Amino acid sequence: MGKVYLIGAGPGDPELLTVKAARLLREANVVLHDSLVSDEVLQRISPSAILVDVGKRCGTKLLTQDEINGLLVGYAAAYATVVRLKGGDPAIFGRAGEELAALRDANLDYEVIPGVTAGLAAAAAAGISLTDRRAAAQVLFTTFSRGKGAAAMDWGCLTPTTTLVLYMPGPDYGEVANRLAEAGLPLDLPCAIVSQASRAAQQVRWTSVGALSDADKLPAPAILVVGRVARQQVQDLRDAFWSREESNKTTQAWNIV
Ligand code: SAH
Repeated sequence: MGKVYLIGAGPGDPELLTVKAARLLREANVVLHDSLVSDEVLQRISPSAILVDVGKRCGTKLLTQDEINGLLVGYAAAYATVVRLKGGDPAIFGRAGEELAALRDANLDYEVIPGVTAGLAAAAAAGISLTDRRAAAQVLFTTFSRGKGAAAMDWGCLTPTTTLVLYMPGPDYGEVANRLAEAGLPLDLPCAIVSQASRAAQQVRWTSVGALSDADKLPAPAILVVGRVARQQVQDLRDAFWSREESNKTTQAWNIV
């Protein structure tokens, strides 16, 4: 039986791979990768490895998670080093939970190698500090589901000093802006759109919750950073932050309980 490595490929720039990930890509017998993994990273894989694009549409449908799990277990029965390569970090919107459960069920030896998640790469690209003692005390990595049950959003922990990192915003920024406003965020709250962080075509746009629907649509993959830190000049809000009275007022103004 082989060993399965769940590896974070990072946001695109191959120099953001961990040293361990780069070594395992050179040693791998089989690599199953997502469509989000950049070509530059794929070029670091051993030329003799079997390469399987599990993010690719085959016919009309994508491989199901069960099919991917089955492939992992099947390849591990035949090869020593099997890599499951995912964009960013496997544990952030990467369905690592289901794959790890399948590996455990099959009694396979496995190891997770973390990667630079897109939210961190986006903050770096825009020169944003996600926490800032003057304005942001916590960070929420999140997304929202569309379609059925879309109203149910688990953003209950939002406060005026939360930085929101929104994955998978999709092409309709108007919808995103509405959802942010519905969650009680003020319309003048800053927002940065970062497209293709760490890649050659990287772009950053500065906007706000209220102006987001009119912002340029940037190519996928893109991510939003929303909060007081998502601007080039962060205002020092320490006084407001530290004064309980002021903080309560802001919380009420944001309609957040
Ligand atoms: N596991 C990945 C996230 C997968 S969800 C990670 O940790 O980064 C896919 C979403 O990630 C995309 O819709 C986009 O919001 C974001 N994303 C991935 N790579 C990105 C990049 N280079 N620049 C900006 N956003 C990116």
